[in-house]
Amino acid sequence: MGYQKIKVPADGTKIVIADGKPSIPGNPIIPYIEGDGIGRDITLAMKKTVDAAVAKSYGGKRKIVWMEIYAGEKANELYGSYLPDETIEALRDFVIAIKGPLTTPIGKGFRSLNVSIRQILDLYACVRPVRYFKGTPSPLVKPELLDIVLFRENTEDVYAGIEWESGSDDAKEVINFINQKFDFNIREESGIGIKPMSEFASRRLMRKGIEYALANNRKSVTIVHKGNIMKFTEGAFNNWCKKEAAENFRDVIVLEEELNQLYGGKLPEGKVLVNDRIADSMFQQLLLRPDEYDVLVTPNLNGDYLSDSAAAMVGGLGMAPGSNIGDYLAVFEATHGTAPKYANMDKVNPGSLILSSVLMLRYMGWGEAADLIEKGIDATILKKTVTYDLARQIENAKEVKTSEFADEICGNM
Ligand code: NAP
Repeated sequence: MGYQKIKVPADGTKIVIADGKPSIPGNPIIPYIEGDGIGRDITLAMKKTVDAAVAKSYGGKRKIVWMEIYAGEKANELYGSYLPDETIEALRDFVIAIKGPLTTPIGKGFRSLNVSIRQILDLYACVRPVRYFKGTPSPLVKPELLDIVLFRENTEDVYAGIEWESGSDDAKEVINFINQKFDFNIREESGIGIKPMSEFASRRLMRKGIEYALANNRKSVTIVHKGNIMKFTEGAFNNWCKKEAAENFRDVIVLEEELNQLYGGKLPEGKVLVNDRIADSMFQQLLLRPDEYDVLVTPNLNGDYLSDSAAAMVGGLGMAPGSNIGDYLAVFEATHGTAPKYANMDKVNPGSLILSSVLMLRYMGWGEAADLIEKGIDATILKKTVTYDLARQIENAKEVKTSEFADEICGNM
């Protein structure tokens, strides 16, 4: 492979797609992007934790061979570009990767590096599990009842990037066209954004959500939408998701209306309930009846709000993992930003990136190592040995550095 700056390690093997899924060797090469700001600290902590869990789980039989690739400020120094072509090439070639947070370069031609990576590689599902770790400070009375996996559409909606600035010639042209052609009365000085949502993108996301529910013994898939107001985008999203469920999963799903009609209100063993909720009501439901929800399938903007809100219920962004998954390619990432004021201070919580590595290990089928890391995190938090963000909310906690938190997790595996 002819990369300019990326050094492909000689002692690892490339993950390839075989029989429609990633085939994982014992020594897979996993590319990682360190990230800006706090990225370096949390990436070091994540790699150390993963290496310890893999070594402990599999002796010497399995090992991740890390390969650094570049994006963000480090890439700009090396290549003069925030998102070099060969980084995208490597993400495509090596199938599974993990990344730290990236600064959004202001006025440098990128809306956001993260959004660019998702769109270029068509990583259409943003998958974010949110569950409680005992001992984590939470504003909920019973945070342990929340255990959801959110599938957020990643390529469409108002994030598609179709926008015109207020007062620009393009905005005026679009406004004139809409006002004249469709007899609307949009104010002339308005900024304009377009919200495209398609059957193709909605259905493939729903397919991923249902497949996940079936594979992980989850009981329901809830479509979250604002279809009562935006009928032909969000309303259509709901209809298309239900169509996907009915056409391709008929034997294994039960629609909400069928639950009472056909099954006396009790979900039959082995089936997945498919229902839908209006987005604003969903925020209430998660607070009031979190245990009734399992897998959520949402359009892009709803999912963005809902995943951060859900994360706050179980301890905040420091503990919220994320992943962006396409048909095969997957990039796992911390959900928070670069928190520049804490850069290189060995201070912040590496939990989000470490939990993202747990998702990655499960995606690879290395569940034993994933379980060990979760066990280590559970025990570390229960012992109240935590980074500043959790320490300031837990009585009598011992505050530790990023690297020490990782050491504690390794010691508690
Ligand atoms: P941020 O970096 O997420 O930081 C906001 C606050 O969240 C921090 O000041 C800190 O709170 C807390 N926080 C974040 N990460 C933490 C961690 N690991 N442990 C403990 N606390 C943590 O958000 P921002 O300041 O709005 O954004 C900074 C840059 O990051 C921007 O350039 C933005 O575009 C980028 N960004 C990147 C991503 C990504 O790469 N996925 C996502 C979001 C934002 P306290 O101040 O209370 O301690």
